Amino acid sequence: MNTAGPTPDAQANHGQLPLIIIGAGLAGWSVAREFRKLDADTPVLMITLDSGDFYAKPSLSNAFAQGRAPTQLVSSAAAKMSSTQNVTLLPHTRVISIDSQAQVVRTSQGDHPYRQLVLASGAQAIRVPLGGDAADQVLSVNSLDDFTAFHARLTADSGAQPKHVMIMGAGLIGCEFANDLIGAGYQVSVADPAVGPMAALLPAEAGEQLKTALSSLGVQWHFGSTASAVNQAHEMELGQRLDITLSSGATLQADVVLSAIGLRADLTLASAAGLRCERGVVVDDLLQTSASQIYALGDAAQYAGGRVLPYVMPIMNAAKALAQTLAGTPTPVVFPLMPVAIKTPALPLVAASPAPGASGAWHAVEAGVWQYKDASDAVRGFVLAGGATNRRAEQSSLVQAP
Ligand SMILES: Cc1cc2nc3c(=O)[nH]c(=O)nc-3n(C[C@H](O)[C@H](O)[C@H](O)COP(=O)(O)OP(=O)(O)OC[C@H]3O[C@@H](n4cnc5c(N)ncnc54)[C@H](O)[C@@H]3O)c2cc1C
Repeated sequence: MNTAGPTPDAQANHGQLPLIIIGAGLAGWSVAREFRKLDADTPVLMITLDSGDFYAKPSLSNAFAQGRAPTQLVSSAAAKMSSTQNVTLLPHTRVISIDSQAQVVRTSQGDHPYRQLVLASGAQAIRVPLGGDAADQVLSVNSLDDFTAFHARLTADSGAQPKHVMIMGAGLIGCEFANDLIGAGYQVSVADPAVGPMAALLPAEAGEQLKTALSSLGVQWHFGSTASAVNQAHEMELGQRLDITLSSGATLQADVVLSAIGLRADLTLASAAGLRCERGVVVDDLLQTSASQIYALGDAAQYAGGRVLPYVMPIMNAAKALAQTLAGTPTPVVFPLMPVAIKTPALPLVAASPAPGASGAWHAVEAGVWQYKDASDAVRGFVLAGGATNRRAEQSSLVQAP
């Protein structure tokens, strides 16, 4: 295939060139599904590094307590998804570059001209440099493949039971895993440089309640510190255990270290293609990037207003709007208030964060209800805890748009 651009034949048949979607996560499959509701005929080619199996990523952080093995998390196999959605799937295929002028995607399996291109390539786990001879054994979980490796390490029989997991990061994902693993009978320690759990998301009082609830289940917290080195423990009786040194100087031992310090989109591909990138691939309200016929959504995208929204509900809204645009009716995405349910059964939480840059403060309104109010007393966000989580609709109706 001509890598400099579409062949004359391809240009003549431009109408038959496919919509190409890079990525088979929630964003990729949601766009495919929404597009097919509007257009049954245009060829759709999905290119993905993974198998293309469909799974709900949020289930990765509550699978242990439910006793679900990785294979049980696949809700629809790739072959079924591809035939149901009439999508040609190229699994285990890496997109190497995008020629936005010639409208060609170059992959490890060959080149593919496109009519329209959707970047749904997600984000990657942030890794911080760590010292020690076992730093490369630190795991992250941001995909079903990652979870499979994590599950295998935890369920491998080493004779030392219950296994101890050290989690780096007390953000949303770190806390969800802490709750899930302790609920499944593992020992759990969590280290975070902040003063409490989910410090960026929750009012301090709600964070304190979550800390207490998880402590009562046995979670050991190490706030104000982070892991600085991970070494193989050498004592024979410790088997394959790891020695972790914290920045505070404290040390602890664990069987597995899980890094949950956040995600960042890998922008190498998009930048090399000349697309404007900041914290994600920058898109406008139509989800169009700075290049014609290239769109982005999901964890890979930075939406209008500089917003990065790495959650399920924004993907659902974006996919619906984008499908309309791709099918010929330009449709701006409008994000409603999208509260996030945090899967910490020790203290269930719902958080509707204020827009980035909002100035104001958290106020305790009543038991389990906090509102973020600005200087004019307008409600810009809320957090609900415990029994108050069923007041999501009522509290949402009080939030005023910026
Ligand atoms: C443990 C966990 C729990 C979560 N829980 C919740 C929750 O409770 N509620 C909520 O709202 N959100 C939750 N989230 C966030 C939510 O799951 C994500 O925002 C969403 O799944 C991201 O989907 P995506 O399709 O954008 O990215 P991904 O799922 O990361 O998909 C990216 C796809 O791109 C492919 N890809 C990447 N690079 C290339 C390349 N070069 N070539 C080819 N293919 C490529 C990958 O193989 C993959 O198929 C959670 C996230 C995690 C990690």
